[in-house]
Amino acid sequence: MSLWLSGIGVSRGIAIARVQKAHGGDLDVPEYRLAVGDVESEIARFVDAHAHAKTQLREVRARIPEGTPGDIAAFIDTHILMMDDRSITESTAAHIRDGRINAETALIRTRDALISVFEQMDDAYLRTRRDDVEHVCSRILRILLRSERQISARSEHGEPAVGVADDVTPADIILLAQQQVAAFVTEYGGPLSHTAILARSLGIPAVVGLRDARRLLRDNETVIVDGEAGHVLADPDTQALGFYRDKQRQHERHRAGLVRLKGRDAVSRDGVPIRLLANIELPEDARVAEESGAQGVGLYRTEFLYMNRKELPSEEEQYDAYARIVSAVSGTITIRTLDLGADKQVDSGRSHGPLPTNPALGLRAIRLCLKEPELFRIQVRALLRASAHGRVQIMLPMISNLQEFRQAATLIETARAELRAEGRPFAENVPIGAMIEVPAAAIAAPMLARHARFFSIGTNDLIQYTLAIDRVDDEVNYLYDPLHPAVLHLIRHTIESGRGAGIPVAMCGEMAGDPRFTRLLLGLGLTDFSMHPNSILEIKQIVVESDIARLRAAMTGALDSGDPQTLRDRIAELDAP
Ligand code: PEP
Ligand code: MG
Repeated sequence: MSLWLSGIGVSRGIAIARVQKAHGGDLDVPEYRLAVGDVESEIARFVDAHAHAKTQLREVRARIPEGTPGDIAAFIDTHILMMDDRSITESTAAHIRDGRINAETALIRTRDALISVFEQMDDAYLRTRRDDVEHVCSRILRILLRSERQISARSEHGEPAVGVADDVTPADIILLAQQQVAAFVTEYGGPLSHTAILARSLGIPAVVGLRDARRLLRDNETVIVDGEAGHVLADPDTQALGFYRDKQRQHERHRAGLVRLKGRDAVSRDGVPIRLLANIELPEDARVAEESGAQGVGLYRTEFLYMNRKELPSEEEQYDAYARIVSAVSGTITIRTLDLGADKQVDSGRSHGPLPTNPALGLRAIRLCLKEPELFRIQVRALLRASAHGRVQIMLPMISNLQEFRQAATLIETARAELRAEGRPFAENVPIGAMIEVPAAAIAAPMLARHARFFSIGTNDLIQYTLAIDRVDDEVNYLYDPLHPAVLHLIRHTIESGRGAGIPVAMCGEMAGDPRFTRLLLGLGLTDFSMHPNSILEIKQIVVESDIARLRAAMTGALDSGDPQTLRDRIAELDAP
């Protein structure tokens, strides 16, 4: 009898294949105290396991075939770099020595401390970095425990299979992709995890967060995986097989069509040029952005430079990183100043009191930078100096009133004066813009538009703050609704205020890269979309097929109907040919 299971669909595509479950790799960790004389040999055991884990990752890295998208290698490089992070190696050795405990227990303490730092973060992207810590530590743990996991992409009959596991690391995915896995299903993970991002960029259908998948699915049984809807259908009947085979063919035709769009401009059917930009987080991502055909970078999140370390990055270190990225991007690059909050400084060796009750409403982003001008000054100097290498814009996050914007602009002006006096080169006319991600800023957009040189709508936070729901709290996720009329009103108002003042308005939240919302946003007048590089062709496809005048006419009045259902019906009509 067929069995329907539901998880979170994170990478589109249909697979029909047999199940191959991952075996081994259980992490049952013994905990014991060491005799004084055993401490040094235990540290040596950890050092050996750590070196072995690094060799394994290097081997995976070396096996990445030519022509694989650049971000795949970047994920593995991130893990190799993390292996060398002193917060993992030194802290584990210190736990073994100071606590006289075995290497596995020491490593788990290190891992848990690092994970708790990431879990307190408001930023969903940064929170996903906890997965990296988890994957890197699990690899070392499995070596220490001699319990390496077997994960295979092939069924007992030798055909591509659906891999089913508790979790899948980026390194696992590379191996699975090489063996042409049909799809994978995991018990943990979310849509913003690296596993999900990698699956999307490799085009492997994937469902994550399907609790109990290993218990409910049997090795070798046939399953259908729908990576968009998040469904897994075990033991399907002929009717279901027929339906999904059709869907599979449609999906394959669609993907083949996208590749042809690579060199094409994003111009709508009625001749409106649309700018498709990339969101990036790491210096290596600049290459990925270029390869994707993005016309520039609409959001570079700079937080990574500040994380997992004891001291704050110096101006020189920041300048080197920014200059490298700016030189690698041929279009304009919009660099966002620090978006850390009181809860996110734990590892930077700074003083911090008790965690605030509502960190998302607390001292974060521009508020923190204005409270600690020296922190801001160092970053701004580095950003301005990097502007000598390309076209840079500076974007201020979490602006909630004009006063903040002006204060930040004054500090930037002071940094310019310093650099001028020191004779250091920088571009004189770097535009300063505001992220519109707090409802107050969206409502006050006409006033802000008289001072900002551009806007970028951060829907991830705008939705969270408008609807009063924590964007990373699973309990209230069902309320996270980008189509809520209040959210759409704020988006439209921001776009119109920018247009009225003659400044460009982009969108860099997840909504901009979600094909379900492209026509709606075009209909609201959005022209600049910034997203994960992997989404660019998908969105371009919709743009080139759209008649923007028709979409705008269809949206006229729809937002003012006041009835969410009318609005939803109208949005559904936008998709009709
Ligand atoms: C946003 O809030 O939409 C945004 C792009 O910023 P972040 O996700 O980094 O908060
Ligand atoms: Mg934000």
